[in-house]
Amino acid sequence: MAAATEAKTVHSAVVTYVSMLSLLSLCPPFVILLWYTMVHADGSVSQTWNFLKQHGLQGFIEIWPRPTATAWKIIFVYGVFEAALQLFVPGKRIEGPISPTGNQPAYKANGMAAYFVTLVTYISLWWFGIFNPTVVYDHLGEIFSALIFGSLVFCIFLYIKGHVAPSSTDSGSSGNLIIDFYWGMELYPRIGKNFDIKVFTNCRFGMMSWAVLAVTYCIKQYEVNGKVSDSMLVNTTLMLVYVTKFFWWEAGYWNTMDIAHDRAGFYICWGCLVWVPSVYTSPGMYLVNHPVNLGTQLALYILVAGILCIYINYDCDRQRQEFRRTNGKCIVWGKAPSKIEATYTTTSGETKTSLLLTSGWWSLSRHFHYVPEILAAFFWTVPALFNHLLPYFYVVFLTILLFDRAKRDDDRCRSKYGKYWKLYCSKVPYKIIPGIH
Ligand code: NDP
Repeated sequence: MAAATEAKTVHSAVVTYVSMLSLLSLCPPFVILLWYTMVHADGSVSQTWNFLKQHGLQGFIEIWPRPTATAWKIIFVYGVFEAALQLFVPGKRIEGPISPTGNQPAYKANGMAAYFVTLVTYISLWWFGIFNPTVVYDHLGEIFSALIFGSLVFCIFLYIKGHVAPSSTDSGSSGNLIIDFYWGMELYPRIGKNFDIKVFTNCRFGMMSWAVLAVTYCIKQYEVNGKVSDSMLVNTTLMLVYVTKFFWWEAGYWNTMDIAHDRAGFYICWGCLVWVPSVYTSPGMYLVNHPVNLGTQLALYILVAGILCIYINYDCDRQRQEFRRTNGKCIVWGKAPSKIEATYTTTSGETKTSLLLTSGWWSLSRHFHYVPEILAAFFWTVPALFNHLLPYFYVVFLTILLFDRAKRDDDRCRSKYGKYWKLYCSKVPYKIIPGIH
């Protein structure tokens, strides 16, 4: 019954129903409208709005591309290629965090190699004239449409698997079909012993598609205009630096909420399979048809500011993980770290201790790492300048997501650590923005 307690403490049932219904009913059409507006309506929300006002539901049905054989083929080949890399590229064996029922999943840390092989293969296919990435851009709507339906079926598979063939004891039912489907049942679902489904959906399909599509947009602009604008270069470089950082640190990601606490359900898997390739990459999608000339100096300022934010975000995560890995025996900002020894009880009744870092980045606020995360997204969007607001959708969405996540994480830690979390909050009183929030 582990999932039941988890699901109930994450959000109330009402919030779960509202959030699930809105995700199911609003997100798929939003993905299509976002793509349509960026690619066919000049990035202008009012243009799309006027079209819909004029043509109504029939117009919307006409906008929605049907998944074609080409779209399915692209998704299939990409998915199989990434799954093969995940399974067969060598990597160090890494143990993840101990789960609430005391399991410790093991992973193969081959993300950076898979990322490198993917980008080199993709760019080589284009360079040697074997496959032109503009095909992906030209079928983007059909690909998103296929992903929307394919991922829904995949989430149903996860739900059934959670019921009939769970991979470990870290699985359970809340007794409510909707909550089980939405928040997921299994924490570490696997196919066989070695193929970790969440590593595939979150990292190798979702995050990898971000880099692949960033490169695609860049190549499309080059093929159309014979050159790449400096705005597109800044956008692509920052997104690639961010995704490179992600794969560099992928084993660290396996210790975060997404993997260690959130179960494999619609919320996280559909998000990674559909929302990441469409919404996360959308500033680049916009720039393809809107090349802005920033000038070298402004382009460099934005680039440096973005890289700095990505570095700070990385350093926050690194500091916390190094601190935990060395059991507090490390140096934080030139000094021995200050910390709280927090004890808690696992669901099996065992008493354990975790260390909470209260110095370095982690003394500024309890989720300071979200500040540079949001700013980095702003810096890879701002090359689009301010002719249209839609390219900023990802920044707004990310801000809402991370503020909600900070609340979810605080609630979870409060119930896990009790008085120790209270002590931590008195030492580090701000949730995200030091001095303000
Ligand atoms: P983490 O899971 O990395 O950190 C939160 C966890 O760390 C808590 O649940 C707690 O886990 C532990 N913890 C909390 N405070 C402390 C402390 N003071 N000292 C030591 N451990 C502590 O956070 P996220 O998963 O939210 O973020 C990871 C990265 O992913 C960040 O860089 C974030 O910006 C990024 N991210 C990006 C998103 C995107 O869509 N672009 C979405 C979400 C995150 P425990 O139970 O072990 O104590």
